[in-house]
Amino acid sequence: MRRLYFTVDADRDANIPIPGQEAAGSTDRGSGTAPRFSSTGRGMGVLAELLDSLGVKGTFFIEGRTAEVVDCAVLGGHAIGLHGYDHEDLTGASTGVLPDPDAVIGRGFAAVTDAVSRPVAFRAPYMAADGRVMDAVDRAGIRADSSFYTEVGGCTEPYTIGRITEYPVPKARDSNGKTIAAYLWPMHEGRRAPEDYVHMAEGMDSIVLATHTWHMAETVSGGPMDQGAVRRNADGVRAVIEGILDLGFRAETIGPRRSP
Ligand SMILES: [Zn+2]
Repeated sequence: MRRLYFTVDADRDANIPIPGQEAAGSTDRGSGTAPRFSSTGRGMGVLAELLDSLGVKGTFFIEGRTAEVVDCAVLGGHAIGLHGYDHEDLTGASTGVLPDPDAVIGRGFAAVTDAVSRPVAFRAPYMAADGRVMDAVDRAGIRADSSFYTEVGGCTEPYTIGRITEYPVPKARDSNGKTIAAYLWPMHEGRRAPEDYVHMAEGMDSIVLATHTWHMAETVSGGPMDQGAVRRNADGVRAVIEGILDLGFRAETIGPRRSP
């Protein structure tokens, strides 16, 4: 059975690392880089409605702060994962600050457990993970992870890292020979079409697709979307999922699902 894992990073709007601090900010729209959550709240509703209408259960990697700020009640029946607390770069590569991964994961775990439900999977913010991070994920008792890309042409099937099952996000080449990753980011920004992702899935037995809640309602290049743009954007995501299901994939979650 071919498997589609539709995954969502539920994090602060258009997030960016801030040099010298652990906590991420949001793209400056003229009033500074303090984190914003309005697009992520709006986009979470759009995605939940879309997935429910398709009968598809997704996996939502929620940052602790988002769980505290945004009402996640719409995510009943989906799988709940963890995505840091303040969207920290746990490797420190982009900020120059090296967080304590046990402290960050512990804080995020408690916030998501309190506000939504106990996280059953992990995805590192910015897909920035290493052995030190994975050891902390293991110590938190989480047994599923999706923080690594596969190399172009590499195996897309889940594999194990110690006691953790890893669900890699694939990269491939498109028909023009350009690298395409299974993040829908370029499609939201108007640079790729739904067919590109369906084509990518054709040669795979498992595919982890990934997007962001905020990206359903805001682009990096254009800012918050109007209603029409939100609808067209959601139609694009629908076309990707339907196209991949039509290839014979079945949608599954990473880790057990939350009760409806
Ligand atoms: Zn993120």
